Amino acid sequence: MATIPENLYRTQERIAAACAKAGRSAQSVTLLVVSKTFPPADVRAAHAAGARRFGENYVQEALDKIAALADLRDGVEWHLIGPLQSNKTKPVAEQFDWVHSVDRLKIAQRLSEQRPPELPPLNVCLQVNISGEASKSGLAPGEVAALAQQVAALPRLKLRGLMAVPEPAANDEDQRIPHRALAALQAQINAEQGLTLDTLSIGMSADLEAAIAEGSTMVRVGSAIFGSRSKT
Ligand SMILES: *Cc1c(COP(=O)(O)O)cnc(C)c1O
Repeated sequence: MATIPENLYRTQERIAAACAKAGRSAQSVTLLVVSKTFPPADVRAAHAAGARRFGENYVQEALDKIAALADLRDGVEWHLIGPLQSNKTKPVAEQFDWVHSVDRLKIAQRLSEQRPPELPPLNVCLQVNISGEASKSGLAPGEVAALAQQVAALPRLKLRGLMAVPEPAANDEDQRIPHRALAALQAQINAEQGLTLDTLSIGMSADLEAAIAEGSTMVRVGSAIFGSRSKT
């Protein structure tokens, strides 16, 4: 089995190749290393190999990991990419740098109120159910513009863009369709609402090439770096 540094390197190579194919600079895509279910030691191994941005799904697991890795905190960003309930917003506002999974105003208001004044505004993305799956969290595409306007007005948040977890498709061409739809939605919101959203959080281990081809600026990659998760 390949080591974490080898997998990290290969992932960076995949990103660079996908950028080259799309005529984009490799710097235009940020790698978010998704460490959910993996122990602090694995995060340390990725950090030693150069990773600086980590994504977590479960608030309590993330808080424990952030505490265990407190010595690495400077220069590291922690991103929440999983669902957030309103009774858990306070530690998230206090300890994270980004939240990708905002899908209602109440959560955004609480995060803004609870963001400590000495920290920079919390970066947030709105999660969109771009494939329209009944089981998935996220806003319907038609709901995004109105919430974007409200979230952009909150003082302690910085609305950065849109996030999605598209349904897996049978081939790369079909996989690009939901990514393209999310990119178009973001462009439309910027044009119509005078916003400057700069982050498209799409692309995971299996579909990062399709996402980059359609304009992803941040790919969230877990299993390609740490191996498969036994259970989640
Ligand atoms: C787990 C997860 C990822 C990473 O998925 P991999 O397939 O392991 O790369 C990305 N985004 C979200 C929202 C996730 O829950």
